[in-house]
Amino acid sequence: MPSRHDPQPQFEDERLSAAHRAALRSLDRVVEHTAEPTEPAVAREAVLEQLLAGNVLLLTGAGISTDSGIPDYRGPQGSLRRSRPMTFQEFQADPEARQRYWARGFVGTRLMGQARPNISHHIVADWQRRGLLSGIVTQNVDGLHAAAGATDVVALHGDMRSVMCLDCGNAEPRASFERRLEEVNPGYRESVTARVGELDVNADGDVSLDADTVARFHTVRCLVCGSDRLKPSVVYFGENVPAPTRERAEELKAASTSLLVVGSSLAVMSGYRFVLDAQKRGQHVSVINGGPGRADARVETLWRTQAAPALEELDAALRRAGR
Ligand SMILES: [Zn+2]
Repeated sequence: MPSRHDPQPQFEDERLSAAHRAALRSLDRVVEHTAEPTEPAVAREAVLEQLLAGNVLLLTGAGISTDSGIPDYRGPQGSLRRSRPMTFQEFQADPEARQRYWARGFVGTRLMGQARPNISHHIVADWQRRGLLSGIVTQNVDGLHAAAGATDVVALHGDMRSVMCLDCGNAEPRASFERRLEEVNPGYRESVTARVGELDVNADGDVSLDADTVARFHTVRCLVCGSDRLKPSVVYFGENVPAPTRERAEELKAASTSLLVVGSSLAVMSGYRFVLDAQKRGQHVSVINGGPGRADARVETLWRTQAAPALEELDAALRRAGR
């Protein structure tokens, strides 16, 4: 489902081309309805029991941030229905793709920067403080769990608030990078945000801009090596989760006794694998999600509801139980 502004790239390198095609297949994966949800009252009791037992590994996805105004990818209003994100292979190979990305991001991050944690993020942070969770893993790159006070969050797909150089590996805080972009693009953001109501903002802070608007945007180079291949520290479609992040996730899996997924369709393998691994360990898996998901037919408890009302109900019940 390419965006109207994204030309299909041609890769000379066959390996790059294969990785790009694999990323597109992942993006195009349609999550079908495969299982009937658990009866809500039964589901609520099962998740409550899980939380009361403690040591729950929590995995969150876009559905926990939609109440903060960040659209998800695959939900009913999902941004994948309008445009697809750039794959890692496109970003890496094509300077024009990078210019398009940063022009859109330059406008989009400001919108994303206005996002605040919602009740779900606050409840999760509170559960962590109350010792109910063994860890928090998120597929989101919005930083909202940490903004709500959660600590040691494993951001599986990275963090929008940092920019890295693909050539020398230097990391630069997004804020410093943004200031540099502002210096070379005076008035640009204002000229675009005047039309912000008409723009589509995606889950990764991306907005759709026309070709002329992209063309007059200036990019900046790496402060250390001068490369123009700068990329947000987020895991793109077609890119692997970095090894240190995978290792932290593995440690958490091993240290947990059950898995609770909130707000994810688990369409992407890096999330789905949590379910497979938990089940290999014989652990109870619950999913709270507003729509169908890839693991629905496998999991013990499937609560088909939005994140916030479910977490509020659970939190009230936990407090009644003195937890
Ligand atoms: Zn560099």
